[in-house]
Amino acid sequence: MEQFVHYLKSGLILFLLSFSTLTLAGSDHAGAHWGYGDETGPAHWGDMKPGYSTCKTGKHQSPINISGAHATSLPAITFRYQATLLNVVNNGHAIQVNYAPGSYITVAGKRYKLLQIHFHSPSEHEIDGKAADMVAHLVHKAADGQLAVVAVLFNKGSRNPLIEKIWKHMPTHKGEYSKTAIKINASDLLPTDRAYYHYSGSLTTPPCSEGVNWLVLKNRVEVSSSQIDALTHIFPKSTRPVQPLNGRRIEVSR
Ligand SMILES: [Zn+2]
Repeated sequence: MEQFVHYLKSGLILFLLSFSTLTLAGSDHAGAHWGYGDETGPAHWGDMKPGYSTCKTGKHQSPINISGAHATSLPAITFRYQATLLNVVNNGHAIQVNYAPGSYITVAGKRYKLLQIHFHSPSEHEIDGKAADMVAHLVHKAADGQLAVVAVLFNKGSRNPLIEKIWKHMPTHKGEYSKTAIKINASDLLPTDRAYYHYSGSLTTPPCSEGVNWLVLKNRVEVSSSQIDALTHIFPKSTRPVQPLNGRRIEVSR
């Protein structure tokens, strides 16, 4: 009898253990593993976790198709980027370059610190219905918490020297990173003419938070097709489809 009770008890414990393991695995699957595939892709983000609901219910989402922008005398973006030691991480969704403190932009008197740069191919924003071959998103944050993202669009063309430096240290697996003694400067990604499109949108990945100040540079830079291939080999899909404009105004530097 004693044996039997013991057997029952351990059976119950085993049952409880396996139940909690399943639950953990279940919630982990629903929470952490958003992606771009069929099961976990952009159409499902809003249902994967309560914190991601803005991906579904938000009315000011990004990216968008940039079309019919109003020509305005937009304030110039002042870029104050310093060189940083190259620190690249594969976060499972993108190749990201983390930027050391001290670099920032100023727009209309407001300062936004440069935090990180990551890449998508093709670009997420479309211009008149057409995506660019690649884009760099330079993510900045102001003291009040507001984000400003500068998007630099790339056309297929000649090899890009800064991309060359970054890709040489590109970690191929999720969670891997490269910390190097090589210096890079984000200024080397920018086109000479910094005219831009402006509108208010969101993060293009969960949790899709809104209130993001988008600054999409109008002029493009070049990247070679083999450099694009090196990125899409690791991330075949990394692009959220364009979202409804819902009456938002898009402006462009005059
Ligand atoms: Zn991005």
